Amino acid sequence: MADADQRGGKEVGGYNRIIFKLKLKIIKQADDRVEFNISGIDINLANALRRTTITEIPVMAIEKVTFYDNSSILNDEILAHRLGLIPLKTDLKTYNLLSECNCKGDGCSRCTVTLTLDVSGPVAVYSKDLKSTDPEITPVHDSIPIVKLTEGQKVKLEAIAQLGIGSEHIKWQGGIASYEIKDNKSFDFFVESYGQLSVYELISKAFDVFGNMIDELKSELKS
Ligand SMILES: [Zn+2]
Repeated sequence: MADADQRGGKEVGGYNRIIFKLKLKIIKQADDRVEFNISGIDINLANALRRTTITEIPVMAIEKVTFYDNSSILNDEILAHRLGLIPLKTDLKTYNLLSECNCKGDGCSRCTVTLTLDVSGPVAVYSKDLKSTDPEITPVHDSIPIVKLTEGQKVKLEAIAQLGIGSEHIKWQGGIASYEIKDNKSFDFFVESYGQLSVYELISKAFDVFGNMIDELKSELKS
C-alpha cells in the first residue's frame, strides 16, 4: 500500500465538488500500526475516515455467555463483561454480521463462534484458557487475566462471539485513528490496530466503507 491513488472519479451531474483524487503516501509502517499522508480530501472527509476506522469496521467479540458453573469471586455479569473485552482475532472473509447473515440473526456457523472455558482452582485463569471451535478465532493475547480461582472454585461456561462495530460497543472497536493537518492541505494519519485485524485490513476496510458512503452520497445527489 504505497503511493497509490486510492480513488478517482468522473463528474456526476455537475456535482464535481465531491469528486476527488486521493493521494496516499506511507510514512512509517509496522505490523500493528501505520502512519501515512493523505491529500485530496478536505477536513470533513478526513474526519469521516478517522471515525469510520474507529467505529464502523466489524471485529469479533464475545456477546453471550452461558454459565454452567461459577463459584469464583466474580459474579456472572462481571465475568461476562470481562470476557467481552478480550480482543479476538477476526476473519472477515468467513464471518458475516448477524444482521446480514442468511440465518437472519438466529446465529449459525457463518456468524458466530463458540468458545468454552472449563477450569478448576487453584489456578490463575488467562485468555489462553478459552478454547475456540474455530482455530482462526482466538484471543489476540494469551495472557489477559480473567479470574483467579482458589482450591475448590470452578468456572465452566460457553461463550458466543460475533461480529459487531465500535459504534455499538467499545468491545467491537478494531483500533484507534487520529490525524494531524499538514500545510492546510494534507493530513498525516496514524492508525493502530488492537490486533483483531491487521492494520492493513483495518485501513483497507475503512476505505471500502468510506468509498460506499461517498457512492451513496453521489447517487443521492444524482437523484
Ligand atoms: Zn448466521
